[in-house]
Amino acid sequence: MSNYIVLVKQVPDVTQITDNAFDPETGTLIRSRLASVINELDCQALAFANRMKQLKGNGSGKIIALTMGPPMAEEVLQYSLSRCADTTILLTDSSLGGADTFATANPLACAIRKIVKDIFGGNNDYYVVCGMQSVDGDTAQVPAQIAEELALPCIAYVTGAEYRGNHLEFTRIISGGSQTVAARKLPAVITVAKYEYPLFATYAATRQAAKTQIIRWGAADINAPHIGAKGSKTTVIRVFPPGKSSRKCRQISDAKELAKLIVGSFKDSAAKTGPGGDSQAARYVLPAKRANIFERNLEGTKKESEDYKILADTLAGLGLTSISQIDNAVQEKILTAAGEHFHKKALEDMIAGLKTTGPAYTGQVWVVAEHNAGVIHPATLELIGKARCLADDLETKAGVVLAGYKPDSMTRELIAAGADNAYIIDDKLLDRFDPAAYRKAVADCINAYWPQIVLFGATPQGRMLAPMVSYRLGCGLTADCTGLDIKDSSRRGLVAILMQTRPALGGNVMATICTKNSKSQMATARPGVMKSLTPDYTRPGKIIRHNVNLTDSDISLEIIKTELGTGQVNFDAEIIVSGGKGMQSRDNYEKLVGSLCNALSSRLGIQVERGASRAAVEQGFIERIHQVGQTGTAVGPKLYVALGISGAIQHMIGVANSETIIAVNSDPGAAIFKQCDYYIVGIVEDIVPQLVNELEAK
Ligand SMILES: Cc1cc2nc3c(=O)[nH]c(=O)nc-3n(C[C@H](O)[C@H](O)[C@H](O)COP(=O)(O)OP(=O)(O)OC[C@H]3O[C@@H](n4cnc5c(N)ncnc54)[C@H](O)[C@@H]3O)c2cc1C
Repeated sequence: MSNYIVLVKQVPDVTQITDNAFDPETGTLIRSRLASVINELDCQALAFANRMKQLKGNGSGKIIALTMGPPMAEEVLQYSLSRCADTTILLTDSSLGGADTFATANPLACAIRKIVKDIFGGNNDYYVVCGMQSVDGDTAQVPAQIAEELALPCIAYVTGAEYRGNHLEFTRIISGGSQTVAARKLPAVITVAKYEYPLFATYAATRQAAKTQIIRWGAADINAPHIGAKGSKTTVIRVFPPGKSSRKCRQISDAKELAKLIVGSFKDSAAKTGPGGDSQAARYVLPAKRANIFERNLEGTKKESEDYKILADTLAGLGLTSISQIDNAVQEKILTAAGEHFHKKALEDMIAGLKTTGPAYTGQVWVVAEHNAGVIHPATLELIGKARCLADDLETKAGVVLAGYKPDSMTRELIAAGADNAYIIDDKLLDRFDPAAYRKAVADCINAYWPQIVLFGATPQGRMLAPMVSYRLGCGLTADCTGLDIKDSSRRGLVAILMQTRPALGGNVMATICTKNSKSQMATARPGVMKSLTPDYTRPGKIIRHNVNLTDSDISLEIIKTELGTGQVNFDAEIIVSGGKGMQSRDNYEKLVGSLCNALSSRLGIQVERGASRAAVEQGFIERIHQVGQTGTAVGPKLYVALGISGAIQHMIGVANSETIIAVNSDPGAAIFKQCDYYIVGIVEDIVPQLVNELEAK
């Protein structure tokens, strides 16, 4: 008899964010102006746990819904009770507030231990079922960190379950395909990426829910060592609105105008530019190497850089050349000279900060390589490009960890991409990606060398591995970064730290985060955002072997089936025409995408490739190798044409580097219209043939 602990969370309703939800002064979100809802993927997790229980046919198994949050979070427990939960627990305590994912996973794992002891009577036949991520944080880190704390197998990105033999098998999303797996032992953590069979409340269940007591626990009940802001490993430096999209978002009235625009742009345009993305505005220079000892113009926030500029100018005006000259009397003079700019305490902190000239962290900048069947994931090469820049700024080496079975043939490419050192962990048990075995190998290697920065690709694999590795090593982790820069936070006494910028709240805000209380700064970065370097196969590089003691008991999952795309595709083509679920059928996809590809190719004399959304691939319109996006391929053509694609974040991440994006969609409110350059509102069956005619007409 299995039991199920479902983690549910109350989140702000990010779909309803309006302009007045932001503080005009600070640009930060005023949460009280937003309605609170249950995290959608947690609803799906609840329904999924109920399905697992039915599949196992054990009517006596219990479903426990657990949430951590303020007292009002009991609303999500009422929701859970009225669907399928037998028991609900609210973990609430002011000392738990302000936590990052590390200090969220830790108390939740302690609460799970208490549930197992007090409610399950020590029975270890249970699953922890969670939504893959919550819409406020969007990190997907907490479930994997809970698994790490409890030493449980973790099956992430699950979309389905079947009961075969005497165990549950799960289908899950992996990079470039899907996989069927089972946990080798229970308990296990499951994260649900998609389960579209919602549960509805019945009158009887709602009445019963109203009568059922919610169990309340405080911090003292669970005795967790890492809680709240104090137990966190990351801190938010600033929150700001996302920059306006650089896309034109211009509606085009008809196919004739669109054809003219496409042909015109190919006539006039210069050569294709390389992938854009996160480029550092100003190269970082260590304070000890700067021309002026008072120069602090590379602070984490613009305001702090400006304050230090005022301070440097004031000190120069007073004729000072050394920090030791700044005594109490000088401080008074500075306060008078700088006028209203500083409070006494702020000035003291700034002056104390000037005394810190050495970097807060030492060691190399590392990337954890991802590969499949001897092929390096493009995100790894992009990250090595970034690591190279960061390492140059920090005057250290760039390294890459390559774990696998006989992976040596890939090292040349990693070094050519910019790495100085390749750390190879070669073991038969690393033949296939097993989260538990890989996290042990990678964490062991990090623990031996302690690089100051470790970067992972924000792919399904990286988003699974990074939280386990970072939690195991007691380090902070920032998910899905779109910006990584070395900056100072001199007032905090921190120099040369990694500023990690990422979107949050469904892309409605950006946050810059830095690591604290950790030996290494860790982040995952979105594929397609960082810039890979032109490979240089003459670069010298060092290979360092690292042995890890792995045994069969380190393998957590039984891999039953892996389905990956086959065939060939050239995503370096100058134009990619992609079809989505809106193509309706394989025939339609073939007819419409095929004819547009041919027309563009013969009119412009260039190669045009076919792409697809994940939904189109899942509908069987085209083979998986053509999938574009987070779990497909990140592309950067000169022109990307999206036909019948809604514009989900996971798709758009993969096309962000396209020079021009054109969309055709029948829904006037389609999200893609806010993320493209030109669009036509209309059905593809009408628009595409017209466009083909126009292109063929000359
Ligand atoms: C972990 C994870 C990873 C993922 N990775 C990826 C990924 O790599 N790539 C990816 O694409 N998705 C990915 N997804 C899925 C993603 O969230 C979306 O579900 C998917 O992109 C939707 O595909 P779609 O736009 O084709 O379908 P839908 O969202 O169903 O949109 C179809 C669109 O077609 C329009 N339409 C319908 N009929 C017509 C017509 N006749 N003419 C014109 N327009 C029409 C509709 O208005 C609608 O906007 C991932 C999801 C998860 C959870």
